[in-house]
This record gives sequence, structure tokens and C-alpha cells, in this order.
Amino acid sequence: MIKKLKFNELGLSKEILKAVADMGFEEASPIQSEAIPIIAQGTDVLGQAMTGSGKTAAFGIPLIEKIDPKLRAPQALVLCPTRELAIQVAGEINKLSKYALELPALPIYGGQPIERQIHAIRKGAQIIIGTPGRVLDHLERKTLSFKAVKIAVLDEADEMLDMGFRDDIEAILKTTPSTRQTLLFSATMPAAIQYLARTYQRTPHIIKIAHEKVTAPAIEQFYFEIESFRKLELFTRLIDLHNPKLAIVFCNTKRRVDDLVTELRSRGYAVDGIHGDLTQQKRNKVMDRFRKGDVDILIATDVAARGIDVSNVEIVFNFDIPQDEEAYVHRIGRTGRAGKSGKAFSLVGGSEQYRFRDIKRYTRAVITRLPIPSFQDVEEVKINKLLDVIKKVIDERQSESYAKIVNNLVKDDVTVVDVAAALLKMYMRKK
Ligand code: ADP
Ligand code: MG
Repeated sequence: MIKKLKFNELGLSKEILKAVADMGFEEASPIQSEAIPIIAQGTDVLGQAMTGSGKTAAFGIPLIEKIDPKLRAPQALVLCPTRELAIQVAGEINKLSKYALELPALPIYGGQPIERQIHAIRKGAQIIIGTPGRVLDHLERKTLSFKAVKIAVLDEADEMLDMGFRDDIEAILKTTPSTRQTLLFSATMPAAIQYLARTYQRTPHIIKIAHEKVTAPAIEQFYFEIESFRKLELFTRLIDLHNPKLAIVFCNTKRRVDDLVTELRSRGYAVDGIHGDLTQQKRNKVMDRFRKGDVDILIATDVAARGIDVSNVEIVFNFDIPQDEEAYVHRIGRTGRAGKSGKAFSLVGGSEQYRFRDIKRYTRAVITRLPIPSFQDVEEVKINKLLDVIKKVIDERQSESYAKIVNNLVKDDVTVVDVAAALLKMYMRKK
């Protein structure tokens, strides 16, 4: 178990300490505690830690400290798998560097006009955060040079390889000085990652943070056993019962995402879906609406949601049980971000039971089986909520002008209780 340190025990500049304080970080996460001093002294790092462990600041802080503010040329390079991640990492680095550096980090990705990026590069960008395809494009056009790069980071390296960026990554690294420091972060360590480490790193210090949430308290994990065709009904009950402000729902395929979006919309839920077939523009739009809370349920595939940092997700649903254990850990890591608590619900269909048993064994987490909530349970919760509202209206004397109307209704055989019960019935049926 790696010790957690205070940020002021890590030998950081006062500019960084001030920025970290502004961000509200109380203590460094385990990967930050271990990686920051090692990276600062110039050693390569090969880091394995799950989503949400605070990797961005782990490499971002020492990276910022290595930038010579007077040298207006790319001195640090971070490669990320997707545009969303590049923007997110740049955002986090810019918060961290706000007192230390004058120029912001520059995200470079496909889909944005290349001229605008060229303009920003010419202004002297010191930290480049990009997706491999577009970065290589710039190198080939000679609009970007990595001759002054001191440090290169491969973030979510396994994901980049899965997306077919291996040749691009190698081509990019070859344009940087061989004296550079190289950091490699990956959720998993397949052979291809080990090859990258062997080829492009110098005796890296290996950091492995076990399957545990580090920046967040435990996520409460639950599951239901249910016939597959009843999942939709169960899901809507769970939503009605828990009424999350933001929830992410995972399906195993794009098709399942689209189908579920259609089904839920037709039932009046504010949902949207995200998967790899959507254009970048559409994906960004969906993510924006979700972050702002215009949509409170986001249905997603693993690839589309991975690595995306949305805080305040209260519940993660596995509408489908994922194919492997790593995906389960990634999925539930979408809640309980940054010190907040969260819940994960898995809907285990008949044919998914064996897979789910493996997941339970692998994660060694406590995953509690819950009974299927009945229609009455949902009804009860709704009624209780309504009664709370009614009490509030009475307390605040908002209803006095209606009292006369009710009074007129009350006769020998109609009591006030009858009137109230009838109203309640009408209201519940409408819901
Ligand atoms: P990873 O890259 O490992 O998935 P991130 O770097 O995206 O994780 O961090 C996840 C979230 O935790 C972000 O919202 C980040 O601002 C927050 N975070 C990072 N370090 C800390 C810390 N030491 N204390 C509290 N929150 C942190
Ligand atoms: Mg990350």
C-alpha cells in the first residue's frame, strides 16, 4: 500500500502548491505521492492505475515544473487517445500551471481547423497535448517540431493501441530527442505496452496501484438477478426510486445504446446516448448537455465513455454485464469521482450470471444482491416525496386561497380525507 503524502511534502514550487490548493485537493493520491518525486528527478515511469486515480496531476505537476518559461517552443508532449481526453488533460494542466506558466497547454486534435492550431503553435506553445493522428499530421507538414521536447507522456496507452495508433506513436516519438524522459500510463499492461516501454523508455520505475479507488471513497456496488426481457422495466423502477441527478448507463454494443435511448425517451426520460459511430461534434454536444445536466441519463458504450471525467455522477448502471472484469472496474469508476460517493447497479440477466460471478471474484469487492423493487416500492417512494411537498406547501401557507374550494366540497358523506385521497389518486395515476 502506497503512502499518501501532503502536496507540501513533495518538494513542489509555491506556484504549483497554490494552484493545487485552488483546485481543492487535500492530499496527493497514491500514484501522485509515488510518481511526482520520481518524475521530478528525471526517471522514466511506467504506471498502471485505474481511471480516477489522479494520473493527470501525477505526470502534469512534474511536467509543468520542467518547463523553461522563457523558451517558447514545445518542451513537453502528451499523447491521448481521444479529442475529449486531450481537452480534459489540457484543462487539468492549465489549472495546475495557472501561476507557474504564462502560456496555456495546447490541445491538438482532428476535427479542429488546422490553421487555428498552427497559429497557436507559432505563438510559442510549450506543452502540446494531442491525439496521435493530428500530431503526426503537423509533424509531416513541419508546422510542429519536437526538437526541444524534454518529456513525453503516453496517457491511456492501451487505449491508444486499441485504436490503432501504434505506428503513429512510434513515428512521433522518433522525432523527439532520444535524451527525453518518457512516461507511460496504462490501465492494463498487455505485451504491446511492454514493447513500447522496452523500446522507448530507459529502465522505467514501475508503479502499480492495485484495483482500488484512490481519490474516491468506496463505491457501493449492488446487483439484481433478472430475466433479460425485464431489464427495461427494472431499470425504470430503479430510476424512479433513486431519482439520480446524473447517471451513466452502460450497454455492450452501439445497437443496444440506440435501442435503449429510444425506449427510454418514449417513456419520457431525459436521456441521450454516446458511442463510437457518432461524429466528434455530436459526441461533444451530448457530453456538454450531460455535464450541464440538460440530460440526466447518459447511455454509453465502454469505448465512448472511457476516461471521460464527469463529476457528480451518482449512479452507474450496467444495463449489460461487460465482457471482462477490467471493463467493470472502468465503468463503475465513472462514479465516486474526486472524493464523492457513488453507487453502481448491475442488471444481471440469466445468461450473464457466470460472467458476473467471475467479475465478483476478480474485483474482490463487496457486491450486494438486492431484491427487485416492486411496483408498490416505487409507488411508496413517489407518495412519500409528494407528501413532503404537500407538507411544505402547508407550512409555507401557500394553499390558503384553495381552502375555501375544498370546504365547499365537504358535505355529510364527503370528508376532507376523501378529498385529499382522491387528489392523491389522480396525481399518482398521472405520474
Ligand atoms: P485518471 O487519469 O487516473 O483517470 P484524473 O487525473 O482524470 O484520473 O483524475 C480524476 C479526478 O480526480 C479529476 O477530477 C481530478 O481533478 C481529481 N483529482 C486528482 N487528484 C486529486 C487529489 N489529489 N485530490 C482530489 N481530487 C483529485
Ligand atoms: Mg487519465
